[in-house]
Amino acid sequence: MRGYGMKAVEQPAWLEKPKPKAGPFDAIIKPKIVAPCSSDTHVMHGGSSPRENLILGHEAVGEVAEVGEKVTKFKKGDFVVVPCTTPDWNEPGVQCSVSNAHDAGLMRSFKFLTQKDGVFAEFFHVNNADANLALLPEGVSPEAALMTVDMMSTGFHGVELANVEFGDSVAVIGIGPVGLMAVAGAALKGAGCLIAVGTRKASIEVAKAYGATDIISYKDGDIVKQITDITGGGVKRTIIAGGNAETFAQAVQMTLPMGTISSVNFFDIKDTLSMPAAVWGLGMSNKDIRCGFCPGGRVRIEHLLQLIKHGRIDPTKIITHKFYGFDKIEEAFHLMDSKTPDLIKPIVYID
Ligand code: NDP
Ligand code: ZN
Repeated sequence: MRGYGMKAVEQPAWLEKPKPKAGPFDAIIKPKIVAPCSSDTHVMHGGSSPRENLILGHEAVGEVAEVGEKVTKFKKGDFVVVPCTTPDWNEPGVQCSVSNAHDAGLMRSFKFLTQKDGVFAEFFHVNNADANLALLPEGVSPEAALMTVDMMSTGFHGVELANVEFGDSVAVIGIGPVGLMAVAGAALKGAGCLIAVGTRKASIEVAKAYGATDIISYKDGDIVKQITDITGGGVKRTIIAGGNAETFAQAVQMTLPMGTISSVNFFDIKDTLSMPAAVWGLGMSNKDIRCGFCPGGRVRIEHLLQLIKHGRIDPTKIITHKFYGFDKIEEAFHLMDSKTPDLIKPIVYID
């Protein structure tokens, strides 16, 4: 079968691979709609440990093509939503941890891209299908469902890690698709002042629609100063969903004592995250620093789908570009990489 991915770092390419096989608990899925993610482009550029001969992609909804003999909840032909994080639920990491992202070690529940080929293929493999697939509920469009598998789950995780409470002042650094979902999630959780940091015109409009009260640009000078000026001192919760190695110290500095800094950002493998001790109150500020990876699994996705079904959020506002046809994955991937001002999230209809 064909798939789009990378021959090596900085070498995106179409690849020919054998069709994956389902073990007894697994499913093989034929993707119907896929979306490229910033994490796919980071991997192609070598921002994590180097990969070779790998099909990229980890965001998909699709049709079940085949199930293993132990799968009981899904059958051939079902339309399913596939979390990008698909834990092996037998591993101790998921049985004793609050997060399901690290089943057998750091980020080991993220199987696509790290341990096997991704979803930009004619077919892809999902482990533990009964616990990792979700049916598309009535009243939710496939496009909206596609936005739950990573963008909503990750952006909302930033909000969960930040412990946003009613009336809290919140800053969201970065308003690409992940940060925009964090803005929407923070508004749902009752943020008061909600400041978003970003410059792309398309993103600014959507941030306002999702409830941002103020927008600032990192291109207009120090974001710490801009945020302390708006709030008269700083914010209670800061969520990092974009930026560079310097963003981390800025986030700690703009956060009030007893506040929380959360990060769902992908820092580059070459980055060093340094921070002057003074901005962390010499270690005595009670500022919590928390970070996390996109939670996955069936129940997580079912919960997010309920928010869409009942009109709490419309994640399709972040979809700015639609492509039609399997071969268009390449163009959509390069668009995601180039981050034009009108881009938030592209999707590709496979048929
Ligand atoms: P985007 O690149 O689309 O968005 C990044 C945002 O950060 C943009 O709003 C950008 O502004 C802003 N930004 C860039 N530089 C700075 C800076 N110096 N200071 C402040 N803001 C800045 O990314 P995505 O939304 O797609 O993803 C966000 C991050 O989350 C990525 O690193 C991605 O890999 C990661 N990720 C992590 C996951 C997890 O499980 N933890 C899952 C999925 C993604 P502008 O566009 O105006 O330049
Ligand atoms: Zn992703």
